Amino acid sequence: MSMVLGPGPSRQARLASLLYAPEQVRERSRRIYGAMLDESPHVRSGNFASLAAEDLERLFRLYDAEFFRDCLSEMLREDCAYPMAFRLSRRLTRAAGQTMRLVRRVRRAGRIVEQPEYEIAVSTTLLFNTFRDVDREVVVGGLTCADRLEALQRIFEHELLHLAEFLGWGRSSCSAENFRMLSRRIFGHEGVRHDLVTPREQAAATFGVRVGDAVEFDMEGTLLRGRVNRITRRATVLVEHPSGTLFTDGRRYQTFYVPLPLLRKL
Ligand SMILES: [Zn+2]
Repeated sequence: MSMVLGPGPSRQARLASLLYAPEQVRERSRRIYGAMLDESPHVRSGNFASLAAEDLERLFRLYDAEFFRDCLSEMLREDCAYPMAFRLSRRLTRAAGQTMRLVRRVRRAGRIVEQPEYEIAVSTTLLFNTFRDVDREVVVGGLTCADRLEALQRIFEHELLHLAEFLGWGRSSCSAENFRMLSRRIFGHEGVRHDLVTPREQAAATFGVRVGDAVEFDMEGTLLRGRVNRITRRATVLVEHPSGTLFTDGRRYQTFYVPLPLLRKL
């Protein structure tokens, strides 16, 4: 008879039994904050200027020990999915993080089995935009963050809850009640949203450029005029041109992706 591994009631019971009082949460997350400053060659202060994927691995190890009684790494091992992957992402400009579960079919001991793989990504675009030029209160998961490292911790906690749900339940949704229950009991989170500084807010603060603004920019020696349609890492500017694409307003536009410092407001 083979052992039953993977998501199921016994894992769910272990995860649902994790419960910390608010002062325990503060104490444990403070220890992790201190350990990051002690151990990481990149995170040298609360508003650190560089970060590596190995710092996410370090956070995982610290959180697994402080909050999960090492059950995350244990469940990953049972699933033959340890070590899992950690990644920094510049492309995440709305979500602060992302936890993925991929299932591959592999042959093991002559049988086809489903092999899960896990990855946590954290948005460096949002992290490094925050606590820079825009000076305001920053809230992640309903908790006010004093600096970039605290924001990273709150983001990472949210992603770890997704991982825990994947491991225990086989699926995860932060808009469902189960996620909210776990996030309250383990981390004392009051919500699942963040208000980190997005590229859009950053552009408004630093360059005074907002969606809808008329702008001009230099394109290979030609001065072009258009309107800002979208702001991610660059601004999407629509410039009216007879050979452009027909838009719903009946006009034709060419689309340019312009770095924000190169735009001048009209
Ligand atoms: Zn989520």
